[in-house]
Amino acid sequence: MMFVMKFGGTAVDSAGKVKHVAKLIKSYKDRGDGVVCVVSAVRGMTDGLLAIAESVRRGDRASIEDFVKKALNTHVDIATGAISDKKLRQGALAEVKRTVGELQDVLSGIVLLGEVTPKSLDYLMSFGERLSAPIVSFALRDIGVDSEFLTGKDAGIVTDSNFGEARPLMDTTKLRVNHRLSPITKRGAVPVITGFIGADQHGNTTTIGRGGSDYTATIVAASINADEVCLWSDVDGLMTADPKLVKTAKVLKEVSFAEAMEMALFGAKYMHPRALEPVMDTKIPIRIRNTFNVKHPGTVITQEPSRDSRRIVKSVSAIRHTALIDVSGGGMVGAPGTAAKIFDALAKNRVNIMMISQSPSESSISMVVRKSDLDKATTTLELSLLGRVIKKINVSDDVAVIAVVGSGMRGIKGVAAKVFGAVAKHNVNVIMIAQGSSELNLAFVVNDKDCEKAVGALHEEFGLGKARG
Ligand code: ASP
Ligand code: MG
Repeated sequence: MMFVMKFGGTAVDSAGKVKHVAKLIKSYKDRGDGVVCVVSAVRGMTDGLLAIAESVRRGDRASIEDFVKKALNTHVDIATGAISDKKLRQGALAEVKRTVGELQDVLSGIVLLGEVTPKSLDYLMSFGERLSAPIVSFALRDIGVDSEFLTGKDAGIVTDSNFGEARPLMDTTKLRVNHRLSPITKRGAVPVITGFIGADQHGNTTTIGRGGSDYTATIVAASINADEVCLWSDVDGLMTADPKLVKTAKVLKEVSFAEAMEMALFGAKYMHPRALEPVMDTKIPIRIRNTFNVKHPGTVITQEPSRDSRRIVKSVSAIRHTALIDVSGGGMVGAPGTAAKIFDALAKNRVNIMMISQSPSESSISMVVRKSDLDKATTTLELSLLGRVIKKINVSDDVAVIAVVGSGMRGIKGVAAKVFGAVAKHNVNVIMIAQGSSELNLAFVVNDKDCEKAVGALHEEFGLGKARG
């Protein structure tokens, strides 16, 4: 079988872990399987790069030197500990030093210019993966697995030029990735590719959104028509609920792509929301597994889950600490374009709306936004629409969105009654409700302080603690 395996930032943040990852890959190779490996940046690196960009923007140069030194030390330590052969270790260290040197140059350039453009930010953000991937590749060679390391650009991932959230041009990407990777896999070697980054058609480095390494893995898998994608992280799989909220939460054995999409959006395991796209119309399954608990089979995401894993409700998830904005006014009734005006104004100011509901009287529209967007959202609405289209803006600034997910809900009567009955029994007030017509999820909003109670009640009501997945 041909596997595409992605390792997250917590799987490569120490020498011991890198060695473990290399051995894990070797165990598949020894069995006769092919492996293409995708790696994330060492935990904390991408956040660090973002923070340093922010300091540069503020004109604070002092922190740059510290950051570069720390990045160098971290990667030198990992490479030194993970690779025993002297020559290979030197090879890895030379690559790390060369890349950190380039990082230093990029940062100096940005400081000189005094501005961070989306394009230069993507270039900067690429360094996390560009430092971690070669170390993994050399660590593989150190234990006798032939390997080559490639950036997303070298591997042939071509994207549009929407820096920060670039999208792959799949047809070109498929051709190029195949062309680049097949000579490597044919000779039995393991390509180690940087997750998260690609290049636009002019060769500029682009990034495909935070958490994008999962996405890289599925892009590559769809390109080479792999048999399976393994996303190795530090959790056993997708769960029936957040184990921090519900003690009896269980790992799900199998979920459909559509269900996983909802769960990813609702934060079961943070996955790039578009990561499922490239494989959705293929038969390639995705398995979510724990790097540090390899005996656990994990959760498999497939097009058609088997019969015994089709249940009405699969999971209850929550996005905590969000904000609710309710806009109202008699002038909104029967006035076409009201919703468009509201959403347009918010979109222009880059406020992402997570959930919407409108009363049939049309006199109010409620929406949920991230807390960090709340200020921007209310200012926008006040400046552009208050007093004209809308009369009043009401805000609740600490709410939780709870979503019940399961494709078995479709066409089944009484699910909503069960959901709201259970919540009411626990004395939790429901502030807003939305269900998409796909009937894949039923979402509602409660005060954040009621979140744990509500999630627990639903988990219990649908017997998820007893689920076999
Ligand atoms: N390093 C990138 C990030 O932190 C991509 C990833 O981890 O998947 O967002
Ligand atoms: Mg990550």
